[in-house]
Amino acid sequence: MRCPVCGGSCLESAAEMIQQREELFLSCPACRDTILDKRSPPSFRRKMPCAACGKRPLDEIIADCWTIMAEEGDLSFTAPVMATGIPLIHPGVALTAPPHLGNTSMVFLSRSVRHEAAERIVAEVPEIKGVVHDNGLVPGIAEKDETLQTYHTNTRCAGCDVRANIFETMEAPVTVFMQQSYAHIEYPRGFDPKLIATATNVIRHQPEVFVDPTCGVGTLSITAGKYHIPRIIMNDAWGYAAYWAAINLEINRDALGLDHVKMHIAYPDVQKAPVRTEPLKVADAFGDDTHYEVWWGDMNRLGTVLTDKVCLTAIDLFNKENRHRMAGIVHQWKNGIGGEVFIP
Ligand SMILES: [Zn+2]
Ligand SMILES: [Zn+2]
Repeated sequence: MRCPVCGGSCLESAAEMIQQREELFLSCPACRDTILDKRSPPSFRRKMPCAACGKRPLDEIIADCWTIMAEEGDLSFTAPVMATGIPLIHPGVALTAPPHLGNTSMVFLSRSVRHEAAERIVAEVPEIKGVVHDNGLVPGIAEKDETLQTYHTNTRCAGCDVRANIFETMEAPVTVFMQQSYAHIEYPRGFDPKLIATATNVIRHQPEVFVDPTCGVGTLSITAGKYHIPRIIMNDAWGYAAYWAAINLEINRDALGLDHVKMHIAYPDVQKAPVRTEPLKVADAFGDDTHYEVWWGDMNRLGTVLTDKVCLTAIDLFNKENRHRMAGIVHQWKNGIGGEVFIP
């Protein structure tokens, strides 16, 4: 499968990544450890990768970004390392030590970076596959906008910003890809309460039909799918989530026992208008005794396309601390759709 953003091979290595995930970012005996003081400018310039394993410590890569950004005028020469930006390791895995990175293993997010420095970073720092300008707002549909009309994105400046996270679960690991400019930052911690809540509820209720109406890039549904649910219905109003959720079914196809995933939309459809109210089907995926659907639309309209009696629904919204609002949403779902509901 070609990467929909860059046309390259970003998505092709999923099985290999999972297999190697434990040693991917470890140092070798010949590696140096470099830990910078994040409150000062870096104390050195460019260093060569380890001759034995070809990796470099994360802080040396950040120092390279700092140097290029300072040379291009995006940072002052007295700026501390921590002003550079946020490294997002690819694939994201729970780390036990400061990581050592090989080529194309990080997307770099920065509030200060501009186009020229971004181009140079991708060209000159081989560990970095893409640079994203952080516009300061969480990408996606604005939380408080009930009409779904306002949304935010970050800006891809150079390279490809597609990256993956690998979440450990009680079953096989779950790998989800996303385009970072259009996704909120999520990172596996090794202990992920939402995934545990999902597995626990699925085991308890043994649903015939599971609905994930705010599915994001599909992490919870793919976790649930490890427990052999006959029907799974995924949905998101944010097209950059729904599209990647469908791609992630393809990525996890073997682990989910799916024979094939049929896409009904293309990436440019999402780019044209990323938010939808009326549900549009993004993909069907079929296995021997399973059928997944991915929809793109407002969760409050999803009832119009549900054909089976829903047994279990996971409602995963931001701001779930607002208990009054969450209670209202759960109440409305139970009245309109029915079945059990949990908030992971
Ligand atoms: Zn790509
Ligand atoms: Zn090494």
